[in-house]
Amino acid sequence: MSAAPGRQAPGFYRKRIGDVVVTALSDGYLDADVGVLQNISRAEIDRILHETFRPSPPRLSVNAFLVQAKGRTALIEAGSGHTMGPSLGKLVASMEDAGTRPADIETVLLTHMHPDHSNGLTDASGAAVYPNAELLIHEDDVRHWSDDAAMAAAPERKRVRYFQAARAQLAAYGGQLRTIRDGEVFPNVAAVPIPGHTPGHTAYLVADGNDSLLIWGDTVHVPEIQVRHPDVTLDFDSDPAASARMRRRILDMAATDRLRIAGMHVHFPGFAHVVRRGEGFELVPEAWEMVV
Ligand SMILES: [Zn+2]
Repeated sequence: MSAAPGRQAPGFYRKRIGDVVVTALSDGYLDADVGVLQNISRAEIDRILHETFRPSPPRLSVNAFLVQAKGRTALIEAGSGHTMGPSLGKLVASMEDAGTRPADIETVLLTHMHPDHSNGLTDASGAAVYPNAELLIHEDDVRHWSDDAAMAAAPERKRVRYFQAARAQLAAYGGQLRTIRDGEVFPNVAAVPIPGHTPGHTAYLVADGNDSLLIWGDTVHVPEIQVRHPDVTLDFDSDPAASARMRRRILDMAATDRLRIAGMHVHFPGFAHVVRRGEGFELVPEAWEMVV
């Protein structure tokens, strides 16, 4: 008698955007604390999770995306590394399963600096995981997390978890860091600032010919709730009102333009479209395709 299989398929999935290959990579998952959700009652959270067959607390994917364009390789997001427990920190393994090694990465693009996005830039010894990569981050995120006055004003938990962690990552990359604003930052990839969740929160638009993909970072954390209710914000949004406005604007644009999106917390592999539904929106996940 053989043992029941216990391991899932490797955590990568490829999609072609024109001649660009985008590979979703899983860093694992986290079980969200619904206490951080604002502008929504606990009863409504429970009702939506029940209606959409989701566990409570909601289990969120943590994704990153490899972009291979014109012979070059970029990684969008670095995951959480060793810092957030055994359900996360799978990014390098997923990447290697997909045939790419950390040393192959020439550019790392971050959507913002938060533990589940940027802590994986370094290993447990504090060394850079991507030694050959230039690290590109929006200048407003680098400025914010480096701001001593903002750090001093933050409560203890945020000071350690966000400010100090971001500073450690920036220090490890030293001269490899380049700040960005908007426009083309890599072949076929444009930075699109979407401030609110953090001051420098940035989406990346991958485009080639008529095909495109908006990798929207943390536009939503709990898809079932914030796509339906874009006004639901998070305790750790830097500017909750701006974050809600931006979320609605992006969902509206994606629905109007029939734009394909991908997200760091959209269920893996995270490719979907957006349609209007009632006062809010709904995600339509893309079907699994055999052919890249
Ligand atoms: Zn975040």
